[in-house]
Amino acid sequence: MNKILLSSSVSLLSGVGEARKSALEKNGIHTVEDLIGVFPRNYQSGKIYPVSDERCNLFSGFHLTVDSTPAVLTLAKRRVCLRFTAYDENGTKVQILYFNQPYLRNQIFKGEEYYFFGSLQEKNGIYYLFSPTREKTAPDPDKLRPVYPAMGKISSKQLEKLIEQCLVPVLSQIQETLPEKVVERFGLLSRAKAIFLFHCPTDESSLAEAKYRFAFENLFRFSMKATIFSERNSKKRVEPFHSVEWKEFLSSLPFSLTKGQEKALCDIEKDMVADTPIPPMNRLIQGDVGSGKTAISWAAAYLAAKNGKSTLVMAPTEILAQQHYSSFSNVFRKFNIPVFLLTGSTTKKEREAIFCETVKDTPYILIGTHALTEETAMCRNVALTVTDEQHRFGVHHRNILSEKGGAYHSLVMSATPIPRSLAMFLYAAGHISVIDTLPPGRIPVETLYVGEDKMPRVYSFLREKVSLGQQCYIVCPLIEDEEEKSDLRSAEEEFEEIKKALPDVPSLLLHGRMKNDEKNRVMASFKQGDAKILVSTTVIEVGVDVPQATVMVIRSAERFGLSQLHQLRGRVGRGKEKSYCVLVSSHSGKTARGRLKKLCDCHDGFELAKFDLKTRGPGEFFGTRQSGFNAIDLTDSFSMEMIEKATLAAKDFLASASNDEIALYGEETKLN
Ligand code: ADP
Ligand code: MG
Repeated sequence: MNKILLSSSVSLLSGVGEARKSALEKNGIHTVEDLIGVFPRNYQSGKIYPVSDERCNLFSGFHLTVDSTPAVLTLAKRRVCLRFTAYDENGTKVQILYFNQPYLRNQIFKGEEYYFFGSLQEKNGIYYLFSPTREKTAPDPDKLRPVYPAMGKISSKQLEKLIEQCLVPVLSQIQETLPEKVVERFGLLSRAKAIFLFHCPTDESSLAEAKYRFAFENLFRFSMKATIFSERNSKKRVEPFHSVEWKEFLSSLPFSLTKGQEKALCDIEKDMVADTPIPPMNRLIQGDVGSGKTAISWAAAYLAAKNGKSTLVMAPTEILAQQHYSSFSNVFRKFNIPVFLLTGSTTKKEREAIFCETVKDTPYILIGTHALTEETAMCRNVALTVTDEQHRFGVHHRNILSEKGGAYHSLVMSATPIPRSLAMFLYAAGHISVIDTLPPGRIPVETLYVGEDKMPRVYSFLREKVSLGQQCYIVCPLIEDEEEKSDLRSAEEEFEEIKKALPDVPSLLLHGRMKNDEKNRVMASFKQGDAKILVSTTVIEVGVDVPQATVMVIRSAERFGLSQLHQLRGRVGRGKEKSYCVLVSSHSGKTARGRLKKLCDCHDGFELAKFDLKTRGPGEFFGTRQSGFNAIDLTDSFSMEMIEKATLAAKDFLASASNDEIALYGEETKLN
């Protein structure tokens, strides 16, 4: 056989014919390097627990005896389900279900003993395991076995075999991607060693070390970018604004500002108003959901416009861009300042019409999704950018903007109330304003935590609210059923269910894989009140404002971070009616239960974020997933201490490295 190289095609491996090759390619895996970049989604520990043990985590092992002959049930859409019961040594029963594997009926028999691995669920006091993996022999309690994400026709086990085949032969070819000095100083594993241990951890602690190395690398790169960004920014100079008469603006608003909003307004005025050229503003506005951050961006855009300058507003989703477009239009109509909307669904003709306006020297406000960053070359006269982040951080986007367009004042709005030091890091923010007051008259959203078995009651509750003219959201963690994760609720499944449970209530489905104009149509219909129930994935997480919506139901709630749940809860309680948030989860894990209970009692985003930070680590707040070797779920693998170390490493490295060296370790970070 030919020597295996990182760059070899996967077809070189034994066991990869045309069918497997194309299945791998569909998942973006063409070369051996791509293949070893697939990291396990989980590890199967050889530790075995009794079913009712509180130590069971998301993926645990159980020694069970099969108690009934497997029965095959037919589900909707020609899916089948194999179902049987089993019990552990204490006699505790578990229902076991496999989806779309009817042939297992001929492999699993009553009276047999197996070691099952999966995540245990509890509903109505009954335990369930969905599609667990299964072994005949007792596993080594100290060994961790990787569980890969199944890819279409290629199972986790087959991936494991393929990776096993090529990993060792290519190890010596894997290049280090961190500066040697950094690896040494912080006692990190080499990249090759870390990749090896990811696939073949000897124990928990070696896995933790491998994770640490990659998390460190991510943080180091991020910190390099952020440091370069801040340094460059502080050296730039822009023409200052002259101050304006705020009375005219403030009296045009439908409300008076809260104390927190007033303070933020003072801050941005200080940043942008001066007598001599100043560094551009680099400010983050942090405020809980509903604290009224948007009003501050209106004020900033007003200040720019009164100085003859234009503003770009970037929103994370098209839905949110639409919403900003309508609020900005309302405010700026009175001042005769034009507002434009530019998103993925803007037609070429509309686009051209907009650009005819934005090349003029008169002030305007252009609102769009992040796609806008590509088009700023067409925008003249811009002095301010507003980025609405809500839940995700994004030094990257702002970076691109300032690269292309020169120096802009930058205002970023975030609804994730994280501690100052973490915020400074994540946003590369020079300054932070915190809006810590809510507009008057808000009634806290009553939050309930119920098991899956209470869904019939939840549905009648929804019916009752709808009959009063109110509207409801149901949020699910998945779009459609994926066999692998079938214990989670999918939006499509929920949508079918709601149509059955409440056939006379107009309901709609919304998810990220729908076309933009379809999403807009659904959202508009819900906003107008034509649809009463919106079944959705987390696409609605960010900023959606429908005041007549009063109930937020969240399925498989244990899957979301607390801050994210808090964001979702913030979608209701925006009108005059009392609002409810119903967290639905039958997960039996102690930590998961504790987190959901916390949300019922606590309405303070800051406190929830602190709790998240303590229980899940700051990875919770890193919204973006990177690809290739960095595609690791960082959720539990780094701490504030590590952020400090990585920042230190990046600053030291930047201070002593040449531009060529810097370019070597961060392609996009080259200094001018
Ligand atoms: P967020 O900070 O989550 O972006 P928004 O800016 O969307 O919040 O504001 C939430 C709601 O509160 C909006 O309907 C807005 O009009 C309203 N609002 C904002 N500021 C005030 C205020 N000072 N008094 C009353 N209502 C306000
Ligand atoms: Mg907002």
